[in-house]
Amino acid sequence: MMRRFAAWVTLFALLPCTVYADWQHREAAVMGTRIAVEAWHDDAAVAGAAIDAVMAEMHRVDALMSHYKPESQLSRVNREAAAGPVPVAPELAALIARALEFSELTGGAFDISYASVGYLYEYREHRRPTEAEIEAALPAVDWRSIEVDRQASTVRFLRPGMRIDLGGIAKGYAVDRGIAILRAHGVAHGTVTAGGDSGILGDRRGRPWVVGIRHPDDPDRVIARIPLEDAAISTSGDYERYFEEGGVRYHHILNPRTGRSAAGVRSATVIGPDATLTDGLSTSLFVLGVERGLALVNAREDVDAVIVRDDGRVFYSKGLEPPRDE
Ligand code: ADP
Ligand code: MG
Repeated sequence: MMRRFAAWVTLFALLPCTVYADWQHREAAVMGTRIAVEAWHDDAAVAGAAIDAVMAEMHRVDALMSHYKPESQLSRVNREAAAGPVPVAPELAALIARALEFSELTGGAFDISYASVGYLYEYREHRRPTEAEIEAALPAVDWRSIEVDRQASTVRFLRPGMRIDLGGIAKGYAVDRGIAILRAHGVAHGTVTAGGDSGILGDRRGRPWVVGIRHPDDPDRVIARIPLEDAAISTSGDYERYFEEGGVRYHHILNPRTGRSAAGVRSATVIGPDATLTDGLSTSLFVLGVERGLALVNAREDVDAVIVRDDGRVFYSKGLEPPRDE
């Protein structure tokens, strides 16, 4: 009896592996976040090699663009660009230029130079700047003072005390690189996730991928499920990095105009064709708020959005509104 039970357990444990042998899945911690990659290929070894290459790419992008790593090109820019043009990889110059396009599009709600004041916050240590420190740092928050020369591949700051941080866009960029790598390996179905940013390649072999948007206060509760194929989705939330003090939540998305955490929104999700776009826009929408955020999204054909306001009400862009019968 005992024996049969053991055999049954073994068979049960093996079954999923047999059925899903061609789906490969891996997770790693890179860029200060959770990276997850799934890929399907007739030849499991091909899918495995593709995932290895995606993970290597995550480390490469992190080494280039991390502001935590003193030896990254981005850190060098932050140290030296106020003194003169700093040579950078064309890829980094291009992403900074892309970030400036988001600033233009959002009237400065998205601004990678938010970091000029952002660096004064230490969420883990519950540290935040004083009013005086914010006022002193704010003049250096000014995306128009970031000069990118794409020809020469250099970056220069036109103000002293400036810093940039690509945290609002680099994970989306890394996801897009990951999806391109899966494709180049011949993978036609897969996903690449970096924290709140996901790229979806193809479908789930006959079914769409279904991505859940979590409740801001409960990681296990889903407020909406969105079926996706060949798309990207990003969520920015006030629950990612924060501390609370006197009933106020100090979180990691700052309003560049005030140097303080953006208020009014709990989470902003954007769905679109690529993750660099959805990442930049999700951070933007968080700062813009419901009205201006939805106006921006509804004026475009290529993106949709779900915004959870601070009173818990959920807003959808036109493309996601359930059809009304009249
Ligand atoms: P995450 O997945 O880390 O929540 P988000 O896409 O929500 O990423 O972006 C949050 C990050 O964006 C912050 O940690 C910071 O690095 C950066 N950031 C914060 N405020 C702004 C802003 N106003 N403009 C551009 N980037 C910002
Ligand atoms: Mg973002």
